[in-house]
Amino acid sequence: KLYNEIQELKGNIRVYCRIRPFLPGENRKSTTIEYIGQNGEILLANPSKQGKDGHKMFTFNKVFGPVVTQEEVFVDIQPLIRSVLDGYNVCIFAYGQTGSGKTYTMTGPNNLTEKEWGVNYRALNDLFHISRNRGDTIMYEVGVQMVEIYNEQVRDLLINDGSQKKLGILNISQPDGLAVPDASMHPVKSTSDVIELMQRGFANRAVGATALNDRSSRSHSIVTVHVRGLDLKTGATLRGSLHLVDLAGSERVDRSEVTGDRLKEAQHINKSLSALGDVIFALSQKNAHVPYRNSKLTQVLQSSLGGHAKTLMFVQINPDASSYSESLSTLKFAERVS
Ligand code: ADP
Ligand code: MG
Repeated sequence: KLYNEIQELKGNIRVYCRIRPFLPGENRKSTTIEYIGQNGEILLANPSKQGKDGHKMFTFNKVFGPVVTQEEVFVDIQPLIRSVLDGYNVCIFAYGQTGSGKTYTMTGPNNLTEKEWGVNYRALNDLFHISRNRGDTIMYEVGVQMVEIYNEQVRDLLINDGSQKKLGILNISQPDGLAVPDASMHPVKSTSDVIELMQRGFANRAVGATALNDRSSRSHSIVTVHVRGLDLKTGATLRGSLHLVDLAGSERVDRSEVTGDRLKEAQHINKSLSALGDVIFALSQKNAHVPYRNSKLTQVLQSSLGGHAKTLMFVQINPDASSYSESLSTLKFAERVS
């Protein structure tokens, strides 16, 4: 039974749905979430349609309701994250419309406290902790890269030389190769190194943003943690990697309302999110052909999608009735790949 449970936890593609709570000032009475079950069910209600036709049930590996804490979410995914130290490639995404809690899940809120640390900080913190415990037998080195994909261009978030250099992607045939070899690699030894580094990276992600023009919601940010372990007895080495991805907002843009740069951005986002969906769908169907080449996003993540890699998608939901149609399309996207 234990073995099965581990297999279950460490299985290849999992989809977790997370519903964010209402925020101060939002109207709690106007929700579109009718019911959350114990076995991953979520019942979505259409606010403008009564009765059976107005309801749709979805089932995922797990649903986290609005009161579930950052720590509880992390405890659940800890085995997945620890498998990186055994040489696995792991990829964790947050998908959903802007304002649904993607950044909260992956990183935490704006004024971050340890209690509200998201997956990024907790994962690194945990990896350091475990690697220290194994220190007598395996020596680990950890390095971090951080890139952003905006308008199908890859940019280093940890080099701030104003050059806005566009980075190339390697056509990876070997599973542990670096997908973006020219992105700067930063060795990290402690959680405080990581906090310093990520805060610098996330600040760069916001460059050029104004209140109405929040670029961070229209780019994908990818934190990649590379782990190398040296077995001190046998001299064998192992490599694992962890991709932590805060995707661009999945909301559909009304074509009649946007033009120019905004339309171009929307088209790029649309294209890359569908490419991601197609790749995960092909993997879940065990298709022989997996269409990695259709977007920069899937190219960068190729080594951690498919093969022996493990993938977890957080599907983020805003509970408000006004978000009904976005929530429906988010849940449909997730249903297709789960
Ligand atoms: P996104 O990155 O998808 O645009 P955010 O992560 O910025 O969304 O979340 C929108 C707002 O909701 C933020 O103020 C965030 O702090 C808050 N929030 C999201 N999820 C939670 C949660 N589980 N608990 C408390 N606040 C949350
Ligand atoms: Mg965000």
